[in-house]
Amino acid sequence: MFRRSLLPLVASLGLAVGFFLLPIPGQADQWTDLTRRIEALRQQIDRGEATDELRQKMATLLRIRSTQPDLAADERLGYLQEALEFAPDDERLAYELARAGYEVGDANLAYEHIQRALALAPEDFHNQLLAGFICRSLLRYDEAVNFLEKARDLKPDHVPTLISLGRTYAELRQFDRAIDVWETALTMRPSSEEAAELRERIEKAQRQEAATGGGDAMESHRFVVQFSGPTRDDLAAMALDTLDEVFDLVAGELQVKPEGKVFVVFYRKADFHQVNDSQGWVGGYAQNLRIGVPYEDGPLDGPRIKSLFAHELTHILVNVLTNRNHPAWLTEGLAEYYEAKVRYGDGFAFHPADRHLFETKFKTLPSFPRLNAIELNMKTKGNDEEISLKYIHSKVAVAFLLQRFGLPALLEIFQVLARGRPIEEAIESGTGRNMSDFETELTEFIRAE
Ligand SMILES: [Zn+2]
Repeated sequence: MFRRSLLPLVASLGLAVGFFLLPIPGQADQWTDLTRRIEALRQQIDRGEATDELRQKMATLLRIRSTQPDLAADERLGYLQEALEFAPDDERLAYELARAGYEVGDANLAYEHIQRALALAPEDFHNQLLAGFICRSLLRYDEAVNFLEKARDLKPDHVPTLISLGRTYAELRQFDRAIDVWETALTMRPSSEEAAELRERIEKAQRQEAATGGGDAMESHRFVVQFSGPTRDDLAAMALDTLDEVFDLVAGELQVKPEGKVFVVFYRKADFHQVNDSQGWVGGYAQNLRIGVPYEDGPLDGPRIKSLFAHELTHILVNVLTNRNHPAWLTEGLAEYYEAKVRYGDGFAFHPADRHLFETKFKTLPSFPRLNAIELNMKTKGNDEEISLKYIHSKVAVAFLLQRFGLPALLEIFQVLARGRPIEEAIESGTGRNMSDFETELTEFIRAE
């Protein structure tokens, strides 16, 4: 089999097609020439003159055309998709399509093609590695581990494979294994950048391991609940019941189901911020398929835990629905919506403190920040009021979206985002408004509240 480039997938280099066929770089007119030849062939084929030989030639030309260095990723994907019509059983083309799909951020499409490539060449290192990367994008970590372990067995000294395999173990909270493969990678003369990344990852994994390593875990078919410090059986049992209840509500409405189990980690309150590198205002977080929550000794505050889970679980489901391609305002606004739905029975209701802020500090603003400029993550700095105003803005935007355009519009927006498309395109597709008109109407909505 042809040996593909061994460079990491992230490097956006030309694809490995027999280079002797490539037009000479720098001679732009050769690409134009190629486009013309493709167009002529297309017409011939349209006229019904397609022999097997002609179809094969068309597939080859389209693949070469897709390697033009400055081509946009979606144009490259377009050429390869057309090539597929003429060479449906070509393993290399299946790989190239998977890779192009991965590069434009359409992980579902990439998954479909890498499955075909794997069926045709299961022992190929690049197929296994790319399958691992794609499954990571889809938050299918159990599957990703299998592919990445296979890739590691096929090429044990490939550092990017080891980095990725370790990251996947860490997502599954198997920190010993993660640290093992990263330490192995460190002995393989990684680049200085890779070495720095590896050391940082090892240090973070050690912190997580120290906080939760000895604790027990309790599982249901959807969730794994883990504790830093002694396991609280009452809290674990209550958490599992509550998580299932909240999951049914949110996942039922959003019509989604994660492939893997969701980890819910209870951190001792004193450790929470240090172990997770978070700002003081953070009271819980969701990343990929993981939820982290601080807890204290003492009695349970059932309603509070329930609304917190509704909030964080919404983030997890939005991650799955969009393959993590979404702006902060969209996921935070929807998380606030479901939190209120669980807490007050009405998603559009405000907490009294937020209502007060809305009336006195938000609605009265002369103009509002752009939605896509809203930054909210574990490292976002700000006092309580500044942070609350960002949440309020996000929530009002999602309330406007749901009230004016409905849930189907939101689900359509998620689908467009899941294909790796930008939020502007998703909003336009779901609401029929461009982003700027959407925000103008949002402003009117806020003023009228
Ligand atoms: Zn949130």
